[in-house]
Amino acid sequence: MCAANLQENPFPDQEPKALHLGVKILHDPVRNKGTAFTEDERKALKLEGLLPARVHSMAEQELRVLGNIRAKPTDLERYLYLISLQDRNENLFYRVIMNHVEEMMPYIYTPTVGKACQEFQHIYRKPRGMYISLHEKGRVKELLQNWPHKEARIIVVTDGERILGLGDLGADGMGIPIGKLSLYTACAGIPPTQCLPVMLDVGTNNEKLLNDPLYNGIERHRARGPEYDELFDEFIEAAKEVFPGVLIQIEDFGNTNAFRLLKQYRDNTCLFDDDIQGTGAVAVAGLIASMRITGGDLKDQKVLFLGAGEAGIGIADVFVAALKEEGIPEDEARKHCWFVDSRGLVCAWRDHIADHKKPYAHEHEYIDNLLDAVKTLKPTALLGLSGQPQTFTKKVVEAMAEINERPIIFALSNPTSMAECTAEQAYTWSGGRAVFASGSPFDPVKLDGQTLVPGQGNNAYIFPGVGLGVIVSRSRIVTDEMFLAAAHSLANLVTDHDIDIGRVYPKLSRIREVSAYIARDVAKMAYERGFTDKEEPEDIFKEINDYMYRPVYPHYV
Ligand code: NAD
Repeated sequence: MCAANLQENPFPDQEPKALHLGVKILHDPVRNKGTAFTEDERKALKLEGLLPARVHSMAEQELRVLGNIRAKPTDLERYLYLISLQDRNENLFYRVIMNHVEEMMPYIYTPTVGKACQEFQHIYRKPRGMYISLHEKGRVKELLQNWPHKEARIIVVTDGERILGLGDLGADGMGIPIGKLSLYTACAGIPPTQCLPVMLDVGTNNEKLLNDPLYNGIERHRARGPEYDELFDEFIEAAKEVFPGVLIQIEDFGNTNAFRLLKQYRDNTCLFDDDIQGTGAVAVAGLIASMRITGGDLKDQKVLFLGAGEAGIGIADVFVAALKEEGIPEDEARKHCWFVDSRGLVCAWRDHIADHKKPYAHEHEYIDNLLDAVKTLKPTALLGLSGQPQTFTKKVVEAMAEINERPIIFALSNPTSMAECTAEQAYTWSGGRAVFASGSPFDPVKLDGQTLVPGQGNNAYIFPGVGLGVIVSRSRIVTDEMFLAAAHSLANLVTDHDIDIGRVYPKLSRIREVSAYIARDVAKMAYERGFTDKEEPEDIFKEINDYMYRPVYPHYV
């Protein structure tokens, strides 16, 4: 069909009357109300006869959705059901997520989203977000202009190289930006139409995917060097031009690219990396709150990390910033953080240490395993970010419990199957004394008549609030200081009751409140530091609350 025909009658097989406004609204997820269209609306929008007779309230629709989700036999099917609801009725989708955030988050994000990405080529039904591949080099701006919504205030972009702890999933990693942006809306009220997920398809080195005829991405190995950099740079410049002031979150990039790109763009673009900075803030918030259980002082902590990648180094950097705030010089603060990676202790004597690890390669004799590192270094906190399950063995946990009255043990690797130890193992092996948190959720554990509730160091406590603060204040950049402020805001919201049951994070159901407070503190910083041309409003908190999206249906008549 030629372009002229498309303009005149795009659907020649349909009666023109079928294209009336009501039908369009019924098929538009942003405006659709399904069976909640009132009788007057059905009349005015010519929907009579196109819907069953009974008008349902949104609360009744929510009940139906919940029943359907709970009846599904697997989490992946729950994910698929939720995604299809998002595709047909966005307000109802967000109402269900927001009202049941603890129950739903594991389906729309980790751990289920990981499984969904692994199956993406087989479960693919409908596009969401934008796919930009190497084939479109030189035309990225033109592609971004195809985005159907008026503005994008936030972009989450991935190249799929390091999806959760699952490795290179190429274009199938798109589930992650989609899931993260759903959390921006559900947890911080960023309006869904302002959220743009982007897959930068630069190929994949995953042979299984390349050999799968149903794989959705371009058929080639990953681009590296100038070919990669040129596309990334073109994307950043085009995004800034098409959506002025947009906040860009880089997500699940491979180790080398993530550190390199963050360094290159953070001072001239409104950009951050959640895997590095968001993880840093959420874990440090957990450490700050842990002090209320251990009775210790942050400046006396020695933290041993298993895993020296984006997450581990990101946490150490925010922790160093927190110690600097307490008056400890940077060089000394770094000596509070020690790393064991796949090759043993990161120390000054080792060859070929990656740039991001160098600041933490202290002068110390080499140790080749975690247990000996614990016994020798005597850390107060042990943080797992290795993606290697069951590496906090019984002996390691026992050693931590021998050194510390209340050992801090965070097994942060995702998904659940990758955690360095389970909550039950940490509590049992430490005689119930561990202060435990994990990346993916674990159920409470009953031990000696006591119920211990593990905290979930979920990045969703941090990035939505930081994003909200940056968007509302129209900050030009996102700084580490903002992430440290977010860590403090989060730790301050942990209640005495949380501490009593051993939980170092607030209940996830308070997430919108948490995000609003974090946004307030981040926005305040943007105004105070002059990162924005916008004038500081009289009441920042009110401005933030007014901006936040709420899942309610529009009234058409
Ligand atoms: P990464 O690939 O950048 O780093 C992984 C690190 O682990 C590397 O330093 C590697 O050398 C090390 N490693 C690998 N095998 C090891 C072994 N056997 N012993 C010791 N170290 C080993 O990955 P990342 O982004 O840093 O993420 C790591 C893990 O942290 C993932 O499982 C991810 O899901 C998790 N994570 C959790 C949160 C959270 O809980 N909030 C946030 C971000 C990442």
